Amino acid sequence: MFGFLIKNIAWKLANHSIKSHVPKVNIYIPKDSTLQSMSSIKQMSKTVSLINSLEEQISKLSDEKLKTKTQEFKNKIQQDTNQAQDFLSKLEQELQQADNVKRQDIEEQIKQAKNDLKEVTEKSLEEVLPEAFAVVREAGKRTVEMRHFDSQLVGGIVLHRGKIAEMATGEGKTLVATLAAYLNALAGKGVHIVTVNDYLARRDREWMGPLYEFLGLTVGTIQHDMDSKSRQQAYGCDIAYGTNNEFGFDYLRDNMVIYKENMVQRELNFSIVDEVDSILVDEARTPLIISGPAEESTDKYYTANRISGQLKGRRITEQEQIEAKYKEIDLSVGFDYIADEKAHTISLTDEGEVKAAKLFGVESLHDLETIEYRHHVISALRAKEFFKRDTHYLLKDGQVIIVDEFTGRMMPGRRWSDGLHQAVEAKEGMKIERENQTLATVTFQNYFRMYNKLSGMTGTAYTEASEFKEIYNLDVVVIPTNKVLARTNHPDCIYKTEEEKFNAVVEEIAELYNAGRPVLVGTISIERSERLSYLLKMRGIPHQVLNAKYHELEAHIVSQAGKYQAVTIATNMAGRGTDIVLGGNPEFLVKNVLKDKELEHDSPEYKEQYDKLITKFKNEADDEHKKVVEAGGLHVLGTERHEARRIDNQLRGRSGRQGDPGSSRFYVALNDDLMRLFGSDRIAFIMEKFGMEEGQVIEHPLVSRAIEIAQKRVEQYNFEIRKQLLEYDNVMNMQREVIYSLRRRILEGQDIKSYILDNLFELIGVILDRYIYAQGETQGPDVKGFKLYLKSRFSLGLDMSEEDIISSSKDDLQDKLYSLLTAIYEEKQKTIGSDRMRYLERVTTLQIIDTKWKDHLHAMDSLREGISLRAYGQRDPLIEYKKEGFAMFQGIFDSIKDDCVETIFKIEAVKKDNMRSIFMSLPQQLVHNDFSGLQQRPQKKQPEVQKPNDVPQQPVGQPSQKVGRNVPCPCGSGKKYKKCCGK
Ligand code: ADP
Ligand code: MG
Repeated sequence: MFGFLIKNIAWKLANHSIKSHVPKVNIYIPKDSTLQSMSSIKQMSKTVSLINSLEEQISKLSDEKLKTKTQEFKNKIQQDTNQAQDFLSKLEQELQQADNVKRQDIEEQIKQAKNDLKEVTEKSLEEVLPEAFAVVREAGKRTVEMRHFDSQLVGGIVLHRGKIAEMATGEGKTLVATLAAYLNALAGKGVHIVTVNDYLARRDREWMGPLYEFLGLTVGTIQHDMDSKSRQQAYGCDIAYGTNNEFGFDYLRDNMVIYKENMVQRELNFSIVDEVDSILVDEARTPLIISGPAEESTDKYYTANRISGQLKGRRITEQEQIEAKYKEIDLSVGFDYIADEKAHTISLTDEGEVKAAKLFGVESLHDLETIEYRHHVISALRAKEFFKRDTHYLLKDGQVIIVDEFTGRMMPGRRWSDGLHQAVEAKEGMKIERENQTLATVTFQNYFRMYNKLSGMTGTAYTEASEFKEIYNLDVVVIPTNKVLARTNHPDCIYKTEEEKFNAVVEEIAELYNAGRPVLVGTISIERSERLSYLLKMRGIPHQVLNAKYHELEAHIVSQAGKYQAVTIATNMAGRGTDIVLGGNPEFLVKNVLKDKELEHDSPEYKEQYDKLITKFKNEADDEHKKVVEAGGLHVLGTERHEARRIDNQLRGRSGRQGDPGSSRFYVALNDDLMRLFGSDRIAFIMEKFGMEEGQVIEHPLVSRAIEIAQKRVEQYNFEIRKQLLEYDNVMNMQREVIYSLRRRILEGQDIKSYILDNLFELIGVILDRYIYAQGETQGPDVKGFKLYLKSRFSLGLDMSEEDIISSSKDDLQDKLYSLLTAIYEEKQKTIGSDRMRYLERVTTLQIIDTKWKDHLHAMDSLREGISLRAYGQRDPLIEYKKEGFAMFQGIFDSIKDDCVETIFKIEAVKKDNMRSIFMSLPQQLVHNDFSGLQQRPQKKQPEVQKPNDVPQQPVGQPSQKVGRNVPCPCGSGKKYKKCCGK
C-alpha cells in the first residue's frame, strides 16, 4: 500500500466551512420507502445541505470566477493522485520491457496499483464533491436555466458512487447526470454517458453541453454514421454521449485494427447509463456481434487443393528416417515438401515454395501479403497427408463430419480450425460453406463490467435489483420524487378474450377523447398498435402511432401527447426519454415550425424567430395546460400486461410527472400470451370461480396476483437466459481478454522482438523434446530429423556431430541453438534495418493473431452450435463447452507463438506500408438482435388485423366491479370479500 493518502484538511476547511445556518433539504420521502434506501438517503441529505449552504457564496461569483473553479478542482485532484499515477505509469513502462517471466509479476503489481489509484481518486473526488456540485448547480442556472432540485443532487451523489439511481420519469435525470459527469471528468480520464438511441445522445449533448462548456469541459457525441476520425475526437472529450451499441461496437472494432492510430476509444473509465434497465437488462439478452463472411473467397481453397496435388512430397516414416540416418541422405532433396508423421507437420522445401508460388501466380510465398497462400497450401497438404476419410472424418449430407479419434463418435457441428476443415472440404470436392461467421463479439454484461466505475439511472430498477447486484455489482437506490406523486393507478380490467378487451379499450379511449383528456395507449407490439389504430380509425378518433423506429420524429410526436384530446399509441420503448408536458411542449412546437423555414440553427435569424414564437406558443400551452389539468391530466392505458413488471411501471410512469395529476389502468385478457403461457393453472381457477362469460369484466386482486406471479415467472425465465448467455460468454471472455491484451501490447508498439525471442526459446525447447530428449524407450534421438527441421524452418545448418548433440545437456543445446538463431535474426535485422524490422514484427504478429483468432471464433461458433446437438447423457453442455473451448484455445495460442517465430524468420519484405487488418478486408455486419422471452416460446398464430365487416357491432360496457362485497372471497380464505382481497 502507499503511504500517500494525504488528508487534505486545509483544503476542506477553506472550501466547505459549514455555516451555522444550514438550508433545509427539499425531498419528499414517501411512507413506503424501503429502509435501506431511507437510511442512505438520510445520510446523503447531509451532503445536500452542505451543497445548499455553499449556494449563496457561489452564486455571487462572476462567470469568470465560476469557470476558474474547474481548474482549481483539477489541480487538487491531480495533486492528490500524482504519486499513485506516477507509480502506475512506472510499472506500465517496466511491463513493456519485461520478459515473459517478469511480466506476470508486474501485471499483478499493476492491478494493485490501479486499485490504489482508484481509491485515492475516489477519495479526492468525494472531497471535491460538495463544492463541485454547487458549481454545477450554479452553472445550470446560468446556462440551461434549471436549478438542480435537492432530489437531483441526491441522484448525482448516487451516480458518483457507482450505483443506480431509481428516479421516476420527469424527475430530470438528464440534468442529474451533469453532476456526476462533471465531477468525474475532473480526473481527466473521460466519462461516457450512455443513452438508448442516437437521437437522445444528440439531444442530451445539445441540451446539457452548454453547462459543461461554460465550465471549461469538452463534450462530444458519437453517432452511428460517424467516421473513425470524428469518433476519436468525441472519445477524446471530457464527456462523450452515445448509445450502448456504438460504445460496444467501437470497443470491438478497436481490437481489430493493426495501427494504434486507428483506435478510437480511450481507457473505459466512468460510465453513466441512462435507462439502465433497458440497456443492462433487456438489451443484454443478446450479444453484440460483428460478423462477416467466413471466407474472403473459397476459391483459394480449391486452388490450393489443386496445387497440393502437383507438389511432390515425401512422407517421412520411422523406417525411412532410420535408413536415411545410416546412409546420410538429405531426405528433402528432390521433393517439394516433407510430411513429418511424428510431428504431424508439413514443411515446404525451397523448391516447393518456388513451385507453389508459381502455381498460385505470385512472386514468392515470403511476402507478408502472400502469407495467406502459404497457409492455404500447407493446410491443403495436411488434409492430403494426414486426414483420411472414414477414419478421421465422414461425409454425410454434403458435409465433412469429424470423427473423434479416441471414441469413434461422430461430432456433427464441430469444425477443425486453422483452415483445415475448409481444406478437407476442398479435397473432397464439397461445397465450402461461405456462411457468415463471428469476427468479434461481446455481451453488454462483459462490456460494461470493464469500466473502472459504472453507474446508471432509470425510473424502474428496483424490481431487477438482485440482477443488477449479481451481474454488475450495482446497488439500486430509490430516490424520492421532487414533488408528491399524484397519479391514481386503477386496478386492472380483465376480460375473457382479447377481442372483448380491445373493444373495451376503444370504448374507454373514445370516452376520454370526448372529455378532452389526453391518453397514452401502451401496446406490447407494433402489430397490436396497428390493430388498435385500425379500430380507432373506424370510430373516427384521431390518433398518432409510435413504433420506436424513427426516434427523432417520434420524440416530436410524444412530446405533444399531453395536449388536449391527444390520443397516442406507443409500443414499449417508443418515445422513451421524451418528456410529456400537460398541454403540449412549446419548444418542440416552435422547432417544428422553424424546421420548414430551413434556417441555420445557430444563426441570429433563427434565434430571433424562436424567441418571437416561443412566447406565443408558451401562452397557448399554458392555457391548454390548465384545461388538461382540470380534465384530470394524462391517462395511461395499457392494452396488455408486459412480460416484466418493470415495463408496466415504466409505462405508468409517463403520467404524473413532477406532481402532475394523472391516472393509469391496464387491460388484460385471459388469453393474452402472458396469461396463457405463464399463468395457466391459476387462470383456470379464476375462470371457474367467476364463471366468466362473454363481455363480462372483472377487476379483482386475485387476478392481479395471478398476473404478478406470471410476470415474475417470465422475469425469472429471462434472467436465466441472460445468465446462460453470460456463462457462455465468460468462456469467450477469458480468451478474448488474453488475445486482446496481447494485441494491445503489440499495438502499443513495444518490444515485440522480445516476445518473439521468448517464443523462439520456448519453441527450441519443444523441438529438442520432440527430436532428441523425449523420444521414448524404443526410439532414441532422431538427429537427422532434428537437423532437417532446423534447415527447413530456420535455414540453419547445424554444425555439430551426432555424438556431440546426444551428449550435450538440454539446457546447453537450448542455449546454443538460441544464440545461433538470434544471430541469424540479428543478421536479418541488419539487412532490413531495425525500424523496418520492428514494423515487420508488429504487422506480421498481428496478422497471424487475427487469422488464427478469426478461425478460432469460427470453430467456437460451431462448437457452441454443435454442443447442444450432441447427446451428452448426464454431462452438462456448458462444462463440455468450457473444456473443449479451452483446449482449442490452448492449441490456437501455441500455434500463434510458433507461427510468429517461423514466419518472422522466413519473411523477407513487406511491400505495402499500409497493411490492412484482415478483418477490414471483409464486408462487415453489425448485429444486435432483439428478442423477447415470450417470442422465443412456441407462438400461437398472431391474431390478424380485423377486416371492416368483422368489427363487432355491439358496444361493450364499461368495466365494473363484479364481486359482491359481502360474499365470501373467491380466493378461498373464508373471509368476506371486502375484508380480504377486496380491501
Ligand atoms: P427524466 O429523464 O427523468 O424522465 P428529463 O431529464 O427528460 O426527465 O426531464 C424532464 C423535464 O424536467 C424536462 O423538461 C426538464 O426541462 C425538466 N427539469 C428537470 N430538472 C429540472 C429543474 N431542476 N428545474 C426545472 N426543470 C427541470
Ligand atoms: Mg430521461
